[in-house]
Amino acid sequence: MLFEHLDSMFNTRLSELGFTRYELGKTYLGYPLTFYLPKIMNNGPRLLLTAGFHGEEIAGPISLLTFINTCRKSYFEKFYMSFMPLVNPTGINRKIRNNVNNENPDAGFIRTGDPESFSQSKEGKILSDHMEEMVASSHDGMITLHEDNIRSPYGYTFTWEQSEHPTKFSYDIAETISKFFPLHPDGRLIDVVSVTDMVVNEGIIYNYNDGSFEDYLYQKGCKYCACPDIDQNRSLEYRVSANIEIIKTFLNFYEQI
Ligand SMILES: [Zn+2]
Repeated sequence: MLFEHLDSMFNTRLSELGFTRYELGKTYLGYPLTFYLPKIMNNGPRLLLTAGFHGEEIAGPISLLTFINTCRKSYFEKFYMSFMPLVNPTGINRKIRNNVNNENPDAGFIRTGDPESFSQSKEGKILSDHMEEMVASSHDGMITLHEDNIRSPYGYTFTWEQSEHPTKFSYDIAETISKFFPLHPDGRLIDVVSVTDMVVNEGIIYNYNDGSFEDYLYQKGCKYCACPDIDQNRSLEYRVSANIEIIKTFLNFYEQI
């Protein structure tokens, strides 16, 4: 099964790199929600890298795995990175967006106007039970990798920053996305089923209160959050190359501030 396979590869590689694997809890069918922290503290920015909230968006976990297998070692010395690469095991195994009980693991952390925000998934409850660790590990930033099969051929990113307007952080991420995908046109996010109030500008949906995990961490003080959404209709190899560059852009930002 895909989850077991990826879980074992993450565990092997991250153990070699000096990380400890924690099981934050058990979600449906007894699957663990895994979280990796370095054994040794450093004083670098505390950054949380996550993927696999939506099970069919498989480029995210595979990109994180490829990244940790190929990136320069100095990232692990400069940054206090933690990884949560496979948030939705039952969705990943069934190649479906939500979990096996049809709950969205990336919703319901804050109540918004969205009906989905009024209930929380089993994974969401586990994360909420560990929110102090989540907030601490994402103090300086977080990135969560997503994909979109509706707005093809476009790419765009949600970002959250503790400022009224987007800064270099958001623009850097959008610029990297634009090297692989045309940026979504300015205006409302194209939606085939309903009217959305998400407004895209220069490929960025900024500080959008959607009740997601990333929105919640932003509300709790995370300085910079990015949720890139890339075109899922491109090949897996292409999406992974794009994500690797996006992850590097995210990390390189902290080398410049
Ligand atoms: Zn998603």
